Amino acid sequence: MLNGATAVVTGAGRGLGRAEALALARLGANVVVNDYGRPGRDGSGEASAAPAEEVAAEIRAAGGRATAHCGDVSDFEQARELVALAVDTYGALDILVNNAGILRDRMVFSMTEDEWDAVVRVHLKGHFNTTRFAAAHWRDRSKAAGGAPVHGRIVNTSSEAFLAGSAGQPNYAAAKGGIVGLTTSTAAALRKYGVTVNAICPRARTRMTEDVFGAAPAAGGGLDPLAPGHVPPLVAYLASRAAGRITGQVFVVHGGMVAVMERPRVGALFEAKGDVFAAEELDAVLTPYYAERAEGEGFAAPEVLRLKRG
Ligand code: NAD
Repeated sequence: MLNGATAVVTGAGRGLGRAEALALARLGANVVVNDYGRPGRDGSGEASAAPAEEVAAEIRAAGGRATAHCGDVSDFEQARELVALAVDTYGALDILVNNAGILRDRMVFSMTEDEWDAVVRVHLKGHFNTTRFAAAHWRDRSKAAGGAPVHGRIVNTSSEAFLAGSAGQPNYAAAKGGIVGLTTSTAAALRKYGVTVNAICPRARTRMTEDVFGAAPAAGGGLDPLAPGHVPPLVAYLASRAAGRITGQVFVVHGGMVAVMERPRVGALFEAKGDVFAAEELDAVLTPYYAERAEGEGFAAPEVLRLKRG
């Protein structure tokens, strides 16, 4: 399905990124496996080339083509090098899977400036950095081809933490929401070059979620519904030529289920009697409106978390 295409997968030394890189390679893609290899899931510890190199070696051992890149996607120059490595090694870049991420959970009243900055930097700026250089590459390629569409695909990684609210993750939920904004903006900007940009909200048992989801169930009952292996088929499909009409979309994916999310729609509309609302007038319409609704209904949609399957 991806024969001859070249993909960059960020944060592919472990967890979901690793599963995605292996899957794209199995479908015929050349893969640049990026990971800065720091041991802590909060991004702490020394950088190491080992996680990215091990996954690249695993792909090559299975007969695929892969190159490792030990770099930090939140660094603008290192993101430039990552995209250049794909183009220099394989001749072009076709697929960018933005997946690298860290966690520094804390309630908002206790969060430090560093916990906020680090998480927003890796997720949101990290997604922007690679997108910036991949987008320039595709625009150049399309122009060189007289404006013809190119095979350019971006799959971003958001989270249900953004969709449903997550009390202990103000930094993470904000960054993941920002990634949805980046996705729709970039989708609109790159549509004319034939490039699609979508976001997934995965759910999987990795080191990032081991204290939320716990240990895997005992073997024998089929594939664990939270195995990372449920996520890569959607990434591969969105990366393929077959998905050329799908852009600016958000999906929730886990356990053999893919849910297509919709943007918030207007739930109710109130008009001022005069030119402008007075606060008292808003009290007269909004207080009764919300009195009939369960707390949290509406924009903050807790039902997303009930999409669980398996
Ligand atoms: P993980 O910790 O297993 O893997 C993340 C990888 O990213 C690690 O190998 C890490 O070294 C790498 N990384 C982190 N920062 C980096 C940087 N600046 N540059 C390069 N590499 C970097 O976590 P995971 O569960 O596989 O998460 C992958 C993505 O999926 C993340 O964006 C995460 O927020 C998202 N996500 C995961 C879940 C889940 O249930 N696991 C749910 C929602 C979203």
